[in-house]
Amino acid sequence: MEKTYYACVDIGGTKVAVSLVPATSAPLGQHTRLLAQHTEPTLKTGPRDALPQQIIRMVDAACARLQATRQQVIGVGISSCGPFLNVQGQIELVASNICGGKSGFTDNDWHSIPLERVLCEAFTHVPAAVRIENDAIAALLAEVQWGALQGASHAAYVTWSTGIGMGLLVDGRVLRGKNNNAGHAGHMVVGDDLSRQGLPLKCGCGNVGDLQSQIAGVSMLQRFGMTGLDLMQAAKSSDKATREHALEHVGALCEGMARAIYNLTATLDLERISLGGSVFWHNQDLLLPRIRAGVMSRFPAMTEGLDIVPAGLGLDVANYGALAVLMQA
Ligand SMILES: [Zn+2]
Repeated sequence: MEKTYYACVDIGGTKVAVSLVPATSAPLGQHTRLLAQHTEPTLKTGPRDALPQQIIRMVDAACARLQATRQQVIGVGISSCGPFLNVQGQIELVASNICGGKSGFTDNDWHSIPLERVLCEAFTHVPAAVRIENDAIAALLAEVQWGALQGASHAAYVTWSTGIGMGLLVDGRVLRGKNNNAGHAGHMVVGDDLSRQGLPLKCGCGNVGDLQSQIAGVSMLQRFGMTGLDLMQAAKSSDKATREHALEHVGALCEGMARAIYNLTATLDLERISLGGSVFWHNQDLLLPRIRAGVMSRFPAMTEGLDIVPAGLGLDVANYGALAVLMQA
């Protein structure tokens, strides 16, 4: 019998990663090997369907490397940056870092990308082959399956990276919402318009004072006059004045994240939150105690019984997101 495969696709604002895993009877898991994995810069020019066509081409190329064809791919799991737009039951991508028609940040006039429609047309040989989730929801699913959120029914995965995203689980159910955008809490407003030397801190979404504009990796240079990397290094400096100055900034960042996590918990009554993303992961010794203290200093009835922990899958959580999307019933 011909071998069959699942395709795992990770769509980010800067790159797209595609890999294949054998569709065996054994459950897919944290130790499943990703085959023929390759990465390309995210296509942001050409016709409106350039990105889904790029994904189809990358899946075909991965198949060719394994001497297989697209017909042998029986499922496509997609973990994508958002936001999404639900158009007649199918997901379109309206990410501001890819669609130039909305933000003007990129060199195209796309208002949305017909992601699900175009991919479904390429995989008609299997019914319901294509499954798309927001990347934070995909990471949440991976953490629930294999990571730090195993056994939890009321939980969130929070990524603190270039941007900020969350995946939410309440009463054992993943929250999605009307456009599958539940968890885009990086765009919740947590503070005032901070500015440095008259520069307003504005998020790519247009908001002023939202979490992303205040603490995301992309905002640190504008807020503090140094990159996140330099700031974290300064916070570990042996020079006392340098260290204390940087730690003040680190405290301000953690206060922003603590407000967001407290608000989530007060709204959703969570038991466990797993934190990942490159900003958090590489600096967790500095950030985690401060975030915990900030959250726990607030209304105890909301925060007692809440654990805030590092992601069990670490930086691999993104890789396993698309696999976890495929494993959903
Ligand atoms: Zn925003």
